[in-house]
Amino acid sequence: MSTIFDFNGSKGSGWSQPEPALPNAIDSIPEQLRRRKLPAWPRASEPELVRHYTGLSQMNFGIDTGFYPLGSCTMKHNPRINEKIVQLPGIDRIHPLQDESQVQGLLAIYYEMQEMLGICSGMDSVTLQPVAGAQGEFTAIRCIQEYHKSNGDEERDKVIVPDSAHGTNPASASMCGYQIIEIPSGEDGRLDIEALQAAVGKDTAAMMITNPSTLGLFETQITEAARIVHEAGGQMYYDGANFNAIIGKTDPGRMGFDAVHYNLHKTFSQPHGGGGPGSGPIGVKNHLSSFLPTPIASRRDIKKDDPKGVGDGHWYFWKEVGEKSIGKIQQWNGNAGAVVRAWAFYRRYGRDLVKMSEHAVLNSNYLRHRIMNPDPEAAEKILCMPKEGAQSDLVMHEFTLSLSPVKDLNGVTGKDVAKRLLDYGYMSPTLYFPQIVPECLMIEPTETESKEVLDKFAADFHSVLSEDPEIVTTAPHSTPVKRVDEVWAARNLVLRHPIEEK
Ligand SMILES: *Cc1c(COP(=O)(O)O)cnc(C)c1O
Repeated sequence: MSTIFDFNGSKGSGWSQPEPALPNAIDSIPEQLRRRKLPAWPRASEPELVRHYTGLSQMNFGIDTGFYPLGSCTMKHNPRINEKIVQLPGIDRIHPLQDESQVQGLLAIYYEMQEMLGICSGMDSVTLQPVAGAQGEFTAIRCIQEYHKSNGDEERDKVIVPDSAHGTNPASASMCGYQIIEIPSGEDGRLDIEALQAAVGKDTAAMMITNPSTLGLFETQITEAARIVHEAGGQMYYDGANFNAIIGKTDPGRMGFDAVHYNLHKTFSQPHGGGGPGSGPIGVKNHLSSFLPTPIASRRDIKKDDPKGVGDGHWYFWKEVGEKSIGKIQQWNGNAGAVVRAWAFYRRYGRDLVKMSEHAVLNSNYLRHRIMNPDPEAAEKILCMPKEGAQSDLVMHEFTLSLSPVKDLNGVTGKDVAKRLLDYGYMSPTLYFPQIVPECLMIEPTETESKEVLDKFAADFHSVLSEDPEIVTTAPHSTPVKRVDEVWAARNLVLRHPIEEK
């Protein structure tokens, strides 16, 4: 396909510029800063431009194109009503510097979202400022760090993470200056309590863990883990990326956690991937509240008929957190658009939000069952989980498959299968994560897929496994871009478009 740069100067132009406001505007630009010749920017007419971008969008794969079982990423359908709401003028056309009296609606949404997240997670205070899960992790670990400091407990310099942890956990902790202690998972893929007991000590600042784990397994000994970490004086951090599995059933507060991040763009729908836009709020227990980034949406009672306020008997305002706050973590107040979409999403469920998690877990177990039990012969090729004993386990909202048996049989790897699934019209599942599962595929169907889609995916998955290995190992065959050589791309970075060199 030709790129927009092939239009370079040769075609009509789709824009017209007004005449400069000052007749001799050029004279005000110093001689040495002026262009010698016209830039080689593309010039395309409006229809050419529309075709160009529409063409690009069709080369991409998205949740609107097909099933997107990318484990850990929670790629659910994004309800269109969210877009309507976020584009209301009272939300879309406002500026963060506007007076509080003019943005009561958005402030009310912020306040309600904070409250709702606090209730669902068993936390006391919530900030919506971080714009990614990873930034939320960093923010919360910084709060924990300040908490230890305020207790004169400065010796603590280690953060414990299980070997199934997402890479952002050790990365955020190490950005705060902590050393990472990785502990191995037990036989059944779950947290190894003895390994944890051996790792904690006077130097433990925190433990970071997600529950259910990235293997899709519920950590049944989580309260025991929390007791061990707390007894050693450490804090418990909950990676909330898998919140979709537990909302309304249990919560991290009950499990013994002190701080949590939520990935609004995963759990509460929001087009994401490719770097944003996300929202990674955090919630903390009371003892960490005074360290949160500032400000936080707050409200006070006013008379119902007071001309001020949104009419619900409250006045909403930004409340400064105070001098212990770690400060600002993001300009303004985070990604307001993502917050509003998430708010719209959860308001559609209301008190039925628990159904979201129930259906996500049901879909995941159903799909895993369909894949694992098609016929005895096919099932033998896929070993679920590192250990065979775990095969009968129920999983949460996602599950992992190890394709090692397939690789041993005919040389087809997890990556080959993932690539071949693209030819069948699916996004490939998460590949080679968590790293403790050999030839790992991690599959998360989410609650928004129908039984028909899951049945077809399971059937297509088995078709791939029984195909001629030659076809699978050379896939994909039907996508605009074939197999990408990631190493080449990383070693030979091209960051400058040839256009600049012309
Ligand atoms: C996605 C994810 C994160 C990081 O969240 P981002 O919003 O992508 O920064 C952390 N942990 C787990 C398990 C995740 O899946």
